[in-house]
Amino acid sequence: MTLSISRIVQALEPSATIAMATKAKALKARGETVYDLSLGEPDFDTPAHIRKAALEAMESGRTHYTQSGGIPELRRAIVDAYRTTHGLEYAPSQVVVSNGAKHALHNVLTVLLDPGDEVIIPAPYWVSYAELVRLTGATPVIAQTEQANNFRLAPEAFRAGITGKTKVLLLCSPSNPTGSMYSPEDLGGLADIVLEKNLTVVADEIYERLVYGDHKFASFPTVRPGLPERTVVVNGVSKTYAMTGWRIGWAMGPASLAKAMDDLQSQQTSCPCSISQYAALAALTGPQESVGQMLAEFAKRRDYVEQRIAAIDGLSCAEMAGAFYAFINISRHLGRKYQGVQIDNSAEWCLELLSQQKVATVMGSAFGAEGYARASFATSMANLEAAFDRIEKFLKQ
Ligand code: PMP
Ligand code: GLU
Repeated sequence: MTLSISRIVQALEPSATIAMATKAKALKARGETVYDLSLGEPDFDTPAHIRKAALEAMESGRTHYTQSGGIPELRRAIVDAYRTTHGLEYAPSQVVVSNGAKHALHNVLTVLLDPGDEVIIPAPYWVSYAELVRLTGATPVIAQTEQANNFRLAPEAFRAGITGKTKVLLLCSPSNPTGSMYSPEDLGGLADIVLEKNLTVVADEIYERLVYGDHKFASFPTVRPGLPERTVVVNGVSKTYAMTGWRIGWAMGPASLAKAMDDLQSQQTSCPCSISQYAALAALTGPQESVGQMLAEFAKRRDYVEQRIAAIDGLSCAEMAGAFYAFINISRHLGRKYQGVQIDNSAEWCLELLSQQKVATVMGSAFGAEGYARASFATSMANLEAAFDRIEKFLKQ
């Protein structure tokens, strides 16, 4: 008997970031040395005080189901953090804690969208956005941006994508995969159109604390009055506190939406992991020194990667204002042979780079931008040095 998979899941593209990381891990398991720049996850250990809080949660019996939307202490810590950092006032009941920010995004889109609705997504976009939108039956509408404009959505391009079916604008700043960031003024220009057209914004702000140089992060709902009522902010502990495996993220927004997400989650996963929630609580309320230390290390790597890209003939990238990705323009190195292998697009380039030089990156096409490859610099300096030496060697052939 052939099992039949639902049409909606048959049409689903698996995550390319995870697929490339899986390929790299498989090569490593075969004993190969792989220079892995594929996955965006901090290489640091979760700070000790956070791990300790998890142990204490286990030892003190906090190992049961929790409230579906998360323990009250954690929801309160999240709204306190937004009040202190951004001056935004939310009630704890407006936060729903989920199994990672990816799950939070899925919840938000599921409760917001009906089949036929349209979601505007600026490209290059994070791999999961378009697929999570499609899972709801809604349609992703891709709005192009330019490297010369640091991949920021221009108000005219945003306006041009709006139809009678547009419901949501999905923004990511600082951006995965480009590292670019919107200034408060940029966000204001987009917000004016959001308000005029009565749209909802999903603001993925998971990289808000990973910002370099003089760049200043602004949370989307702060840039104009009236935005908190029509914005859902998505965030989490994965990147800021090196907690990718703990799976804690959240969505925060209007009360009716939070209630709908809570109801959805109560049927779907019951609640996020109790132990991880106590760890996340310690992350938000405990000492913050480790955040600054990790940021300082990422900043060094960012500068190194920027300098290596600039020094390689035919490569370029936009300014990396935040997050930990270089989105490398490889277009001048496509349409030629590498050790006899013809390479015409970013997927072929990344797969051949992995096969010939054992360097794992992710193809730009997975982020809606052909002619690019994403390199994560959330990895050691030694790994970055070796990886860029090999990229240089690969290109010189
Ligand atoms: N949004 C963006 C832009 C990301 O890069 C990631 C990376 N995983 C996520 C959401 C999901 O984060 P989490 O690990 O908390 O699910
Ligand atoms: N967000 C990270 C990345 O883009 C982790 C992998 C994933 O969740 O897709 O590489």
